[in-house]
Amino acid sequence: MDKQAKQALDKGLERLQHWKLSFGAWEQDSTLSVSDEKAEEVFSRLSQKLKCNYPFHHPVYAGQMLKPPHPVAWAAYAMAMSINPNNHALDGGPPSSEMEKEVVAELANFFGYGETFLGHLTASGTIANLEALWIARESHPGKKIAFSSNSHYTHERMCGVLAVDSVKIPILEDRNFDLSSVDPEKIGTIVVTLGTTGLGEVEHLEQVIPWAKKHGIRIHIDAAYGGFFRTLKDSDLIDGTQWKLMQEANSIVIDPHKHGLQPYGCGSVLFKDPEVGRFYKHDSPYTYFTSDDLHLGEISLECSRAGAAAVALWATLQCFPLKEKEGFGPVMAQCRKAALKGYSLMEDSRKLVPYKKPELDIVGYFPSDCKTTSQISDLSKKVFDAGMKDQSFYLSLFKVPSSEFIRLHPEYKADSEMVTILRSVFMKPEQAAFVEELVNRIESHL
Ligand SMILES: *Cc1c(COP(=O)(O)O)cnc(C)c1O
Repeated sequence: MDKQAKQALDKGLERLQHWKLSFGAWEQDSTLSVSDEKAEEVFSRLSQKLKCNYPFHHPVYAGQMLKPPHPVAWAAYAMAMSINPNNHALDGGPPSSEMEKEVVAELANFFGYGETFLGHLTASGTIANLEALWIARESHPGKKIAFSSNSHYTHERMCGVLAVDSVKIPILEDRNFDLSSVDPEKIGTIVVTLGTTGLGEVEHLEQVIPWAKKHGIRIHIDAAYGGFFRTLKDSDLIDGTQWKLMQEANSIVIDPHKHGLQPYGCGSVLFKDPEVGRFYKHDSPYTYFTSDDLHLGEISLECSRAGAAAVALWATLQCFPLKEKEGFGPVMAQCRKAALKGYSLMEDSRKLVPYKKPELDIVGYFPSDCKTTSQISDLSKKVFDAGMKDQSFYLSLFKVPSSEFIRLHPEYKADSEMVTILRSVFMKPEQAAFVEELVNRIESHL
C-alpha cells in the first residue's frame, strides 16, 4: 500500500507541477537552496532519529491510541501540502475549503443531523471540545457544565479556561449517570462520552436525553475516540443503543485523527443548530451561516488551519465511505473483533484476567497470579517493561481506583488506593489476526 500511495503521490505531484509551471517559468531563490549532500546527510540522520519511535504501525504495538494514517491520507495530505492552502478563508484555499464543507456534511449526515447543521474541522479533539464548551457557555450563561468522572480530562481543564463552573457526575454500578447527585436547574450542558479514552466505555445517552429535555439542558457528545463505531450501530458486533441516538445531541465531536485513518491535526466539531453561528460573529444574521458562501474562518475559533487536513480526509472518505458493509464499517469491525477475541482468550487464560468486557476495541486486563492490588500493579508494570525491552509487545498501563476494581474482582485484596492494570487499544484491523500471538507473548512473560 505504501508503494501504491507513493506512485499516486508522484503522479499527483507531477500533475500539479504542470499547473504550477502554467503561470510562467520561475526559479527558486538561491537563498533557499540545499545541497544534495546536505539533504542526504540530514535525511539519513532523520531516519535514525525516527527509528527511536515505538512501532505504532505494527500489530505488536497494542498500547495507546496511536497508529499511522492510511497511505491514501498521507499521499493526499502531502500533495495538498505542496500548495499549502489555508482553510481559514475561502480565498486561502477554495478547493480545500469546499472539500472541508463536503466532509463535514458527510460527518453530519453520518450522525443523523439534518441539512442545517454547522461544523468544521479542527486541529484536534481538544480544540473541538473547547469550541463546543464555549458555545455551551455562551448559550447557557451562568450555568454549569456537567460530565462524568470517566470523561476526558480536557472537559474539566477547558471549563477552567472558559471560567465556567463544572460538576462531575458519578457513574453508578449499572453504568448510569447518578443524576440524583446534581441540581438540574444549575446545569446548562451535559457531556456524554461515547467511547471513553480509558477503556472505550459508551455512556448512557439514552438515560440522559429525557432528563436533559425535561430540564432544558443541552447535550454535547464527545465521540472523539468512538465516533467511527457508529458505522456498526446496526450490526451485532456492538450494542447500538446509544449510537442510534446521536442525532438528539446539540453538538458532537469526532476525531478523524483517531479512528478516521488521518494524520494528526484533524478533529471536528458539529452543531445541530446552525443558529449557534451567531456566537462566532455577532453582527452577522444567522442565515449567513447556511449560505453557500460560508467562510470557514467565520465559524471557527482557530484562524489558520491546514487545508491539507481537509484534503486528506476527503480523499480517505472517497475510498472508505462511512458505511457498515464497505469502507469504515469493515475496518471498525476488525478492531472490535480483535478486542472480543483478546477478551475471550484472556477469559480462558491461566495467567491473565480481563478487567471487564470491552464495549469497543479497548481491553483492560491484569496478571492473575496475585493476591493484592499492589501486587497486580507491580506485576503489570513488570510485564509492560519486559515486552518493550525485548520488543515482543507494546502495551499501556491504566490506573483504576482499587474500590472499583474490587467491586468487579472481589477475590483480590485492596492494599492500595489505586491499582495499575494493563491496557491495549486494538485500533489496527490487522490485530484481529495477531491478537492470539500477542496474548501468547504476554503470557510467556508471566
Ligand atoms: C483523544 C480524546 C480527546 C482529546 O482529543 P485530542 O485530539 O487528543 O486533542 C477528547 N475526548 C476523548 C474522548 C478522546 O478520546
